Amino acid sequence: MQRADYLIAGQGLSGSILALTLLEAGKTVHVIDRPELSASSRVAAGIYNPFNFRRMVNTWEAETVAPFATAFYRRAEQTLGASFHQSRPVWKILADAGERALWQKACAERTGLFAQPELLESPQPQALYTPHGIGVVNGSGSIDTVAFITAVKQLLRQKGALTEAVFDETRLRIHPDGVEYNGQLAARRFVNCQGHLAAQTALFAFLPLRPMKGEVLHLHIAGLTTDAVLNRGAYLLPLGNQQFICGATYEAGQTTETTTETARTEMLGKLAKFITAPITVNAQFAGVRPAVKDRRPLLGVHPQHGALAVFNGMGSKAAMLAPWLATQLLAHLENNTPLPAEVNLNRFTRN
Ligand SMILES: Cc1cc2nc3c(=O)[nH]c(=O)nc-3n(C[C@H](O)[C@H](O)[C@H](O)COP(=O)(O)OP(=O)(O)OC[C@H]3O[C@@H](n4cnc5c(N)ncnc54)[C@H](O)[C@@H]3O)c2cc1C
Repeated sequence: MQRADYLIAGQGLSGSILALTLLEAGKTVHVIDRPELSASSRVAAGIYNPFNFRRMVNTWEAETVAPFATAFYRRAEQTLGASFHQSRPVWKILADAGERALWQKACAERTGLFAQPELLESPQPQALYTPHGIGVVNGSGSIDTVAFITAVKQLLRQKGALTEAVFDETRLRIHPDGVEYNGQLAARRFVNCQGHLAAQTALFAFLPLRPMKGEVLHLHIAGLTTDAVLNRGAYLLPLGNQQFICGATYEAGQTTETTTETARTEMLGKLAKFITAPITVNAQFAGVRPAVKDRRPLLGVHPQHGALAVFNGMGSKAAMLAPWLATQLLAHLENNTPLPAEVNLNRFTRN
């Protein structure tokens, strides 16, 4: 029987980040994954942005999680010998005089914001329409999610720590102090990182997941050159050579991964408000985010089985939240350190 400290089902962003975190802490892991079951992590633009444009405040725990994510990905690039991370600003194209005033008011009234008080004016007038200026967010960045997940997969394969097969929960034997899988693998803990598909299992159907379908476009925009993420209703992530990912749509309750004309029209309509250069659509992808009713991740121990844990519910923020949350889950499982109440799944299960 092969033994590991942790058995993980799912190697999207959550499973990859958790596995790396456990390995960094000297734990052994075994991961079971079949990537074609859920595309979310691979279609994601991989942007992390610590500023909330609607409320003009830093996002939840941004001062901790954003620099933690940057440091985590830099370290992971060294460990994995791969290149997938870039620190880059987010440029918020201000829609009107009202939004410009709100930005300036927020920056004048609050300290420690990732938003910068100085606005940019018309940096690329030939391709970008920005009559009300641009607000700059720092502390942000992006990861190439496919390159990252592929590099983690490679590391797991080298360690003999990856089973590339469908995880079947009926083959999981659960004991008070551990699990056995398929008569071949034993672990102290099992962690569910199956994304929105956790809802289709019997053991984790209780999780209050709310699938949120999203689509992205891969584009060429002639004459637009920038390293910043651009955002006005839709975002544009630069890939180099005037190639961009445009995202994203939000459709609650949908679990199919088919692309739609409606989503394409919606995103191109949003781009038309700030891009004046010619756009060519090269590809379109869809995935299903594991979102949660209260928009916070789901971490912690299964309410009935102490050997089972959950690292899920990352919604649209896996790239920024998962590195820090993985260390929180590790400390909780190993040392009983309390989880942040906002993400502890017991907020839904305790009476
Ligand atoms: C269009 C779009 C754009 C997005 N953009 C961003 C972004 O810019 N920044 C950001 O942070 N987030 C973004 N997201 C959200 C992000 O993709 C999710 O938060 C994240 O991918 C969730 O990762 P996960 O590993 O929890 O789940 P998933 O990505 O669903 O991964 C689960 C993994 O488990 C596997 N699996 C499931 N069940 C089984 C089984 N029974 N057996 C074997 N394998 C199994 C799946 O195939 C998959 O490999 C975006 C999402 C979408 C859809």
